[in-house]
Amino acid sequence: MAEAEITTEPYTRKPRIAYFSMEIALESGIPTYSGGLGVLAGDSLRAAADIGVPMVAVTLVFRGGHFRQEIDALGRQIELADEWEPERYATRLHATIALEIEGRHVWVGGWLYRLSTRLDSGVPVLLLDTDLPVNDPRDRDITHTLYGGDEAMRMKQEIVLGVGGIAMLQALGFTLMGYHMNEGHSAFLTLALLRRFAHAPEDLRPGESPYNLPRVRELCIFTTHTPVEAAHDKFDYGLVQRIYGDLTDLGTVKLLAGEDRLNMTRLALNLSDYVNGVAKRHAEVSRQMYPGYAVHAVTNGVHASTWTSLPFAALYDQQVPGWCHEPELLARADRIPDEALWRAHLAAKQALLARIAALTGVQMDPDRPILGFARRMTAYKRPDLLFSDLDRLRRLARAHPFQIVMAGKAHPRDLAGKALIETLHAHMRELAGEIPMAFLPDYDMDLALSLVSGSDVWLNTPLRPLEASGTSGMKAAFNGVPQLSVLDGWWVEGCIEGVTGWAVGEDALSANGDDARALYDKLEQVVLPLWFGDRAGWIAVMKGAISKNASFFNSHRMMRRYATEAYLG
Ligand SMILES: *Cc1c(COP(=O)(O)O)cnc(C)c1O
Repeated sequence: MAEAEITTEPYTRKPRIAYFSMEIALESGIPTYSGGLGVLAGDSLRAAADIGVPMVAVTLVFRGGHFRQEIDALGRQIELADEWEPERYATRLHATIALEIEGRHVWVGGWLYRLSTRLDSGVPVLLLDTDLPVNDPRDRDITHTLYGGDEAMRMKQEIVLGVGGIAMLQALGFTLMGYHMNEGHSAFLTLALLRRFAHAPEDLRPGESPYNLPRVRELCIFTTHTPVEAAHDKFDYGLVQRIYGDLTDLGTVKLLAGEDRLNMTRLALNLSDYVNGVAKRHAEVSRQMYPGYAVHAVTNGVHASTWTSLPFAALYDQQVPGWCHEPELLARADRIPDEALWRAHLAAKQALLARIAALTGVQMDPDRPILGFARRMTAYKRPDLLFSDLDRLRRLARAHPFQIVMAGKAHPRDLAGKALIETLHAHMRELAGEIPMAFLPDYDMDLALSLVSGSDVWLNTPLRPLEASGTSGMKAAFNGVPQLSVLDGWWVEGCIEGVTGWAVGEDALSANGDDARALYDKLEQVVLPLWFGDRAGWIAVMKGAISKNASFFNSHRMMRRYATEAYLG
């Protein structure tokens, strides 16, 4: 116990907001995230550390990470374990708490990771861990692999996160003024709070609920992250009863989480006073999905210093001092001299070219534009849209020779996503000798920074309205890389045509089917001619991306909004 007291004591003196997330991208080298959700969680906490929002984060340790991606000769994804050693980055918490899972006692220990940035006071992150010798071998793996295993494993992970997290915070002596659920995975925490705030039986009149729902709601904040219904966890009550030992009475749970199955999103919605989507369009879509709930919009942002390449950080330090702490200052980026901006871009591009060559052997030309596309490989993101008409793509490349670089992992069980990676590799073979193209394996934060800063155009082609926000285009903006994207997620707010980037197609859901043609048209008639024919005009768009988008779509602005509207509101 002594060590835990030493390590958490500085953090337990003042009340904090507890931030629960199944994945958090803490730093390169800690593979406890799979994509946008985890990166957003990390960027939120990095901003909280910078601006001093008192928080404590709770997640699972995932010693086996998510997975490391390799691509075989046929373009198939190979999934390898991605082990990391918490002892190298974090301190062991000496507190352990016990849960009942599947009829067994499961002890949960954990690690304290101090998330710090170049400015800050630091945010404690608790990495919960069931890999303890006292546990039954079946339970030691619960916290081993992010999104690994079957539905039962998923539920056990969510019990450890939500219920275990609440118990661990209490054991460590934290005083909490709110609980922020970053996606529904942690919604079991609401049931733990219901138990904590239950009325004493002697205070109840006949027929009255023992649970103080308003008290729990007052404390809870819920951010929903996707309109893809299948991505919202739903558990059979049979499974719930078999696994979740300390379940509050079933009648109450069904009332809050759904009659047929336990829907984690419903549970979080019903027990949170503040609910939000991650962009204005996403909040509108969520209000249609969940009529009767006031879904606010807090549009995502990315962390300034994390997502700015070294050449651009040096440029901003010189031209816009203070930008790290107040990214709003980047509104003045239009005063940066053109040559200095272009030089910084070429430096970032050279670094990407070197990386492409090292990873794939493909030599790209610094004097030709690079179209970049990297994100989780899954059907609705349509990574193959650019290849819908290969002849048209070839004609485009003959008129304005460009190069393509892509990256992204597919979830191991997302067969359609894995098939897309193979399709991209097939296109790459077909286009060989005509359009230089590379697929970089093992997309992670580090590779993401190279890609968003070294490309010339950042491409995004999701099926509307399924991209809740998207954040890689915001990272590109910090590096003066304009986005060419379907009008979905944050781009509905961020796109000023020809000023910050360009839209693919109309702002209309019915237009999804014409997006390929619209993409080719825009590349052919606007984007590529500008790149080749009007360097000053191009640089003006780069500056537009920085001054109008990086200045706004950053996690400092986002966290200030959470702080004033959700945490204190
Ligand atoms: C930023 C990031 C994402 C999310 O990007 P989207 O544009 O939202 O798809 C996913 N994975 C990694 C590694 C990232 O850095």
